[in-house]
Amino acid sequence: MNKIIDGKYYAQELNTSLKNSIEQLNKKRRPKLVIIQIGNNFASNKYIKNKLKACENVGIIGELKKYSEDIKQSELVKQIEILNSDLTIDGIIVQLPLPSHINEKEITDIVSPSKDADGFSPITLGNVMLNKSNIYPATPFGIVKLLDWKKINLIGENVVIIGRSNIVGKPLANMLINRSATVTICNTKTKNLKDICKKADILISAAGSPNLVTKDFVNNNMTVIDVGANFKDGKYCGDVKFEEVLKIVKYITPVPGGVGPMTIACLLENTFNLYKQKEN
Ligand code: NAD
Repeated sequence: MNKIIDGKYYAQELNTSLKNSIEQLNKKRRPKLVIIQIGNNFASNKYIKNKLKACENVGIIGELKKYSEDIKQSELVKQIEILNSDLTIDGIIVQLPLPSHINEKEITDIVSPSKDADGFSPITLGNVMLNKSNIYPATPFGIVKLLDWKKINLIGENVVIIGRSNIVGKPLANMLINRSATVTICNTKTKNLKDICKKADILISAAGSPNLVTKDFVNNNMTVIDVGANFKDGKYCGDVKFEEVLKIVKYITPVPGGVGPMTIACLLENTFNLYKQKEN
């Protein structure tokens, strides 16, 4: 049995299907996504390049709005408000992290929920919690799709998530609760982390800590989803000690090629869903 959950492959399938849907629209206007970047962060440049390429591949118009590192909060707010009211734009994302003088929460909060392709706005997150949204934070959306693709049961299963961020851990926990999983969310203060993880049916690590999840965290019936996107010693890696954990568990996502491509595919799907909402 192949243990590796190939997120790159499945993301490509999703992208092909989205491309077909966009081609079939047969309308003058194509969906449009605007990416806001502040400054010139090395990792952000790479992520943005991938997102713009992915847009192009499926037929979404991707546009980068790049602002200087020292832009004032009030000016950035003004710019986002202009984009919010531009009828030709379907999705807006703000590439994180933002420079330290910018209040990140205020910025992500003012992106209109009707253009919230990242799924980070309070309204989107509230609707996700209430199980009445068709827009989801892109990474949790991608993780749930991967689990469904591999036909991994969620009902009644013990899921442990390492990480409680507003963009991964918390919304993912809500989505899994809505699917009748039993969810435990851990953070840096959690006691006996290894023991909690070891009992899980599904372990999802979104800590941003290379080599955190070792063989002592896992069991041989477990599915491990590695959300981590870290650079260690110049190498891109996840949170999981992949080679040693792979030997034990039932399924595992690699880094790269697991959650990352799914996040981009779901960002595109969100953009398309926002477009359809607008057109209807
Ligand atoms: P974050 O820093 O906002 O949150 C990290 C969370 O992990 C915190 O709640 C913290 O308490 C917890 N944590 C950290 N170290 C821990 C430890 N040793 N034990 C227990 N809990 C611990 O990060 P985030 O934005 O949620 O992202 C998490 C990771 O996922 C990062 O590596 C990020 O780059 C990656 N990420 C990847 C994608 C993707 O598409 N592949 C998308 C989003 C985030």
